[in-house]
Amino acid sequence: MAKMEIKNLHVSVGEAEILKGLDLTVYQGEVHAIMGPNGSGKSTLAYALAGHPSYEITEGSVTLMDQDLLDLGADERAQLGLFLAFQYPVAIPGVSLANFLRTAINSRRKADDPEDKGIPIPEFRKLLKEKMDLLKMDHSFAGRYLNEGFSGGEKKRAEILQMAALQPSFAILDETDSGLDIDALRTVSEGVNALSGPDLGVVVITHYQRILDYIKPDFVHIMYAGRIVESGGPEMALLLEEQGYDWIREKHGIKA
Ligand code: ADP
Ligand code: MG
Repeated sequence: MAKMEIKNLHVSVGEAEILKGLDLTVYQGEVHAIMGPNGSGKSTLAYALAGHPSYEITEGSVTLMDQDLLDLGADERAQLGLFLAFQYPVAIPGVSLANFLRTAINSRRKADDPEDKGIPIPEFRKLLKEKMDLLKMDHSFAGRYLNEGFSGGEKKRAEILQMAALQPSFAILDETDSGLDIDALRTVSEGVNALSGPDLGVVVITHYQRILDYIKPDFVHIMYAGRIVESGGPEMALLLEEQGYDWIREKHGIKA
């Protein structure tokens, strides 16, 4: 089974070391949740995996399908089957969601086969319709300009649709820490539930315990001060709900 393996990852932003030896292994078919208080480094992990130039990897390794991910450019990472959804998606005025998706699909096809002429329009329409139905989206949504004037919930929907259309092997979803209402949370969760299966490994990054009312992860990890300090099953979320993060601070001797 294919896996994404992160070993002893250290990431610095400027002078500050943010990730301090993070380990995580995700197999295709698994759903993982990473939870942790604000500032623990969750988004830093997502940016580092995306290859964002401000996030310098000073130590450790990341492999995807046994290939060294850190050697690859951002587009090559996507072509290898990695999908990342960010906390703050950018708006692209003048480009419809449908056109954006078609371009993204074609770029992946071209990476697999340089001779590829792109997905035929009827096939693309069929795929889009199928995925929108699966995610219970109104078809008119695909005609709107990407993220322009989208509500928080609509941005999340657009992200999930991108994930559905691109059919990645691994998806990392960084959820917004503020301003994501319960409907948006539900959208993400239902999307993940609809799309997860043996060919997809998912990491949902969140500080909301509530998301676990909707998504049933196989594993829950708690991130603190740049490391995963606890891993367990869904029962871990209950512990957090009852006891907050204090017991983790105490157990690991971390100053508040
Ligand atoms: P989380 O997503 O868990 O809330 P972040 O990864 O966003 O945490 O941030 C972890 C720490 O790294 C914070 O102290 C934050 O201020 C710092 N940090 C993250 N990104 C940057 C950046 N681009 N520039 C400066 N500091 C950053
Ligand atoms: Mg964050």
